[in-house]
Amino acid sequence: MEQKRFHKSFTRQESIPDDAIERAMSVLRSGKLHRYNVEPGEAGEVAELETEFASYIGKKYCLACASCGSAMYLALKSAGVQRGEKVLCNAYTLAPVPGAIENAGADIELVEIREDYTINIDDLEGKAADEKAKWFLLSHMRGHIADMEKIQAVCERNGLFLIEDCAHTMGAEWNGRKSGSFGHVSCFSTQTYKHINSGEGGFLVTDDEELMARAILHSGSYMLYDRHLARPDLSVFNSLKKKIPNYSCRMDNLRAAILRPQLQRLDAQCLRWNERYRLLEEAIHSIQGLWCPPRDPRENFVGSSIQFSVCNDDSDSVRLFLEKCKERGVELKWFGNAEPVGFTSDYQSWEYFGSLPDLPDTNRVLARMCDMRIPLTFTLDDCRLIADILCEVAKETLKPGGL
Ligand SMILES: *Cc1c(COP(=O)(O)O)cnc(C)c1O
Repeated sequence: MEQKRFHKSFTRQESIPDDAIERAMSVLRSGKLHRYNVEPGEAGEVAELETEFASYIGKKYCLACASCGSAMYLALKSAGVQRGEKVLCNAYTLAPVPGAIENAGADIELVEIREDYTINIDDLEGKAADEKAKWFLLSHMRGHIADMEKIQAVCERNGLFLIEDCAHTMGAEWNGRKSGSFGHVSCFSTQTYKHINSGEGGFLVTDDEELMARAILHSGSYMLYDRHLARPDLSVFNSLKKKIPNYSCRMDNLRAAILRPQLQRLDAQCLRWNERYRLLEEAIHSIQGLWCPPRDPRENFVGSSIQFSVCNDDSDSVRLFLEKCKERGVELKWFGNAEPVGFTSDYQSWEYFGSLPDLPDTNRVLARMCDMRIPLTFTLDDCRLIADILCEVAKETLKPGGL
């Protein structure tokens, strides 16, 4: 029997929709790409987008940024994180998150992961108390949302200031509330592999007027902050405007023009991701040797990628499984690699923090976890084919056994 093979690219996103292209063309024709290059009384694409995004999340204020990494950096600075202070953060996250913490001059205190890939809330609480940390940057890594009511309770008990990294949860909800509406301030990404695509880009949202004024000034508003729409009253800026340095992290009108029509479609796109996710999840549930953690019914996630664990303990069989999948065209990422490659790195590769403590739970979970993108260019039939390949390769390479 001929072996099944998959031929599509895991990095090919859908085209930018025609109405977004039209909008971008009109910005290009105007030559007015800078967000503050507007006529008197004209809002501009970035300012309009900020209003639309704030209203989508249900927050008062929104700042569009050059990236989610820069939004997180601005969030930390604007919240008042001081040099040398500790920021609690998931050990399982992507490089821009520790990068933003380092950029703000802070130290990182890593929190363990659970078997279901969410943050370990008990470890969080222990470390919040021991380290007397004030700051918590919670990364909903790969869209896995922890119990947000519990997280909020831990933050309240320990006086933790919560910043959400929603790079993979734009459009997602916990218990009927939008991801990003729990934190004091929350950050989103519009980088190509996230849920709306402008190549690079990000948002910061909050209800805190002083924090927002600081963030706008930090982002590089050239004293033109009155041109923002999703901003606090101008009086809030008065005492701050000479005290806040410009870090030039703005978004431009071209990217905003591409994003506005995509934001309108976001909820519909999330449903398409989840159809694909559910199909793959169900298939993986029936594959011996693989384990896909059940999702909490309160978690209305966006399945733009899927993670599952290989039940075998030795990294050689994980490696073999990944290699054989790749030979058949199924590209999986692996956080268990000793060397950081292509978007994945584990916390041990963040050497710029000096020596980081060993985290046994995170090591064990990441050593077995496989990670697969689900671009919307994949049809449901494509997902069925991928599931068949995973099943065949698991049979070939994995010994039966449990986690
Ligand atoms: C992509 C990503 C970011 C940052 O995104 P950029 O816009 O590329 O800076 C932050 N956190 C997580 C978990 C991500 O996956």
